[in-house]
Amino acid sequence: MSEQSFLGQVHRAFDAAATFTNHPPALLNQIKECNAVYRVTFPILRDDGTIKTIVGWRAEHSHHKLPTKGGIRYAMSVNEDEVMALASLMTFKCAVVDVPFGGAKGGIKINRKEFSESELERITRRYTFELWKKNFIGPGVDVPAPDYGTSSKEMAWIADTYAQLAVGELNALGCVTAKPIAQGGIRGRTEATGRGVYFGVREACDNVEDMKAIGLTPGLQGKRFIVQGLGNVGYHAAKFLSEGGGVLVAVAEADGALHHDKGLDLQAIMAHRRDFGTLKGFPGAAYLADSRAALELPCDILVPAALEGQITAENASRIQAKIIAEGANGPTTFQADSILHARGVMVLADLFLNAGGVTVSYFEWLKNLSHVRFGRMEKRFEETAFTNVLKAVEDLTGKSLGAERMAKLSHGADEEDLVNSGLEDTMISAWHQVRETWLRHDRKTDIRTAAFISSINKVAVSYQDLGIFP
Ligand code: NAD
Repeated sequence: MSEQSFLGQVHRAFDAAATFTNHPPALLNQIKECNAVYRVTFPILRDDGTIKTIVGWRAEHSHHKLPTKGGIRYAMSVNEDEVMALASLMTFKCAVVDVPFGGAKGGIKINRKEFSESELERITRRYTFELWKKNFIGPGVDVPAPDYGTSSKEMAWIADTYAQLAVGELNALGCVTAKPIAQGGIRGRTEATGRGVYFGVREACDNVEDMKAIGLTPGLQGKRFIVQGLGNVGYHAAKFLSEGGGVLVAVAEADGALHHDKGLDLQAIMAHRRDFGTLKGFPGAAYLADSRAALELPCDILVPAALEGQITAENASRIQAKIIAEGANGPTTFQADSILHARGVMVLADLFLNAGGVTVSYFEWLKNLSHVRFGRMEKRFEETAFTNVLKAVEDLTGKSLGAERMAKLSHGADEEDLVNSGLEDTMISAWHQVRETWLRHDRKTDIRTAAFISSINKVAVSYQDLGIFP
């Protein structure tokens, strides 16, 4: 199978993991294959009066749990193979973090920079209509989210279009996640994937034994890291890793890269990019026109957070990072994985590491179905209870906690606190589940294979419970 086929890559990873399970071939095949793919073309009226034919897809990889869930990508690289590969990853990702959804993914083959905002709105609304016509969208059917090239704005258009079609459907807002807050979104979703990457990396770095095995000291503090892609995932991962003590030494974007061994100022870079549309000309850092070369610079952690197929058999042996933290989906090819594993590089696989987005999307979906903001009922009750306890402590000790400490200790959890805490707990327990599987195989498999083994076993249980398979 060629290194180019993304779906082929995912299938190879699946097959490698499947050999470590005892499931019958028919069950493994059912788990591996994509359940449904919808390809659509439709015409769009451009602002200049011409008509453009748009092509898009939605793949629902697994209906073992409903709804299916997965982002929508706007990029010229979108094709059926890519959408099916990404949908498949979503199934196993949801299983890793115990989110009760099957996997899906959608995509439209466009370069969004070539379209005006109103054209993008027409494309998004028409795509939503096409999905609705074929029952490929709905709170109990298939629930999209953002991915490469889309954001909460497109999700708002999708939610609004769906609500107009599904007249009177009480749970209509649950048809898509990562919406703006006023449209039924949840606090903390925008940054969730990057924050989850941080929680996962921090947890992995805290293990003394694992760090020793790759020649690093435990803890994130002082670890030098490189980020590829400064979009939603890359920017937030860089922000939280920096705040957690990591040192950002290089960033790679589509138009070039910046490098400074002593550390880069992320916010200053973002402001420069916003003002000039490029990384070029940023003061106080070396500019590399060959963006991919930045992946090979010295660092402890490399965070690919742009697109798939970035670390291949061609460059894997030159990667200097000891940890690869996959913010993107499929950034490391199957062949590159073997090279990195043989070199003792720790690859924190996408399947686990970038699952923060779907985890918080799950929280948003629950919020939409329950029609109440998390924390709304209990926040004040908790604050009053905490305050009463703290006042009793003050009375008994005769000492005052002071207004600032009292306010901090008596704080009741609001929606954002609960979302971030649920995300942190999910990422930590998912890592320990994957790590246990990895250790059970004496670290002979890589971490991706361990994550696949763990999730294949979970999906298998769903089918076995139906009595279809032994
Ligand atoms: P995004 O569109 O917000 O950002 C992507 C960034 O990558 C952009 O800044 C773009 O300019 C940059 N880029 C494009 N080509 C590049 C190249 N060759 N080198 C360096 N940078 C390049 O997309 P995103 O939502 O951050 O998604 C990025 C990756 O993370 C994708 O693989 C996506 O599937 C994955 N992912 C996203 C989410 C999410 O919640 N958004 C969740 C899980 C996984």
